[in-house]
Amino acid sequence: MRVAVLSDVHANLHALEAVLAEVDAAAVDAIWFLGDLVGYGPRPNECTALLQERASICLAGNHDLVVLGKISIAAFAGEAAAAATWTRSALDETARTFLESLQPQGDVTGAQLFHGSPRDPVWEYVLSEEVAGESFERTSAPLVLVGHSHIALELSNGRELRGGQAPAGTRLALGSVRRLLNPGSVGQPRDGDARAAWLEIDEEAGWATFRRTEYPVERTQAEMRDVGLPEVLAARLAHGL
Ligand code: ZN
Repeated sequence: MRVAVLSDVHANLHALEAVLAEVDAAAVDAIWFLGDLVGYGPRPNECTALLQERASICLAGNHDLVVLGKISIAAFAGEAAAAATWTRSALDETARTFLESLQPQGDVTGAQLFHGSPRDPVWEYVLSEEVAGESFERTSAPLVLVGHSHIALELSNGRELRGGQAPAGTRLALGSVRRLLNPGSVGQPRDGDARAAWLEIDEEAGWATFRRTEYPVERTQAEMRDVGLPEVLAARLAHGL
C-alpha cells in the first residue's frame, strides 16, 4: 500500500488543493491526516469537507479541539486565539459535526498516529531527544507518525536515537529500524521552506519520502486579509516560519 501522510492543514485551501493534486499524481491508495484541519487559515469549511471525503484516517489537533470548544480558547495566546475565535464564527454545521467525531490519536496495521506525542497526543511537541525517546518507549509499531510542530522530522531508534529535520526529497528505508516521522505542515510550514509539506510512504517498496509542493501563497494571504485574520499569520506563510 502507498500512503500520503498530511498534517496541519490549518484551513489553507490553496495549499491543500496543490498537495492533493500531487497526491493524485502519485496514485497513492490512502491519505492519513494527523490533525489541525482548522485554525489560523481562512477556509476551514472547504478544507474539512475535502479531507472528510478524501482521508481514510483523520485525527483531531489542538486547534480543532479549541475551535469546537472542547478546550478553552484561553489555552491560546495572541493570534492563535484571535484566529480560533474567527474560526468558531465561520465554521458550518457539517464541518463541526465531522470535527466532533475525531480523536487526537489512531492506529493502523504497522503504524501508530498522534497529533502531538504518544504521551500527550493533543499538546506535546516531539522536538527534543527526551520526548523522542519517551515516544519510542510508549509505542511498539514500526512506524510512529506525529504532526503538531509543523517541522518535517525523521527520527530512528536502532542502537541509538538518531535523526533531525527532513528537507524536501529526504528518502528513508523502512523496516530495519523503528521510525518516528513528522510530515511537516501542509498549511503553515515552520521549518524555513514555505512550500506545503507532506510525506509519501510506500509500504511494499519499503521507503518514505518527504515531499514539498509549491502553492499560490499570495491567494491564501489575500483571503486571510479579506476576512480580517491577523496580518502576522498571513505574512509568515511567505517565509515558512
Ligand atoms: Zn498545527
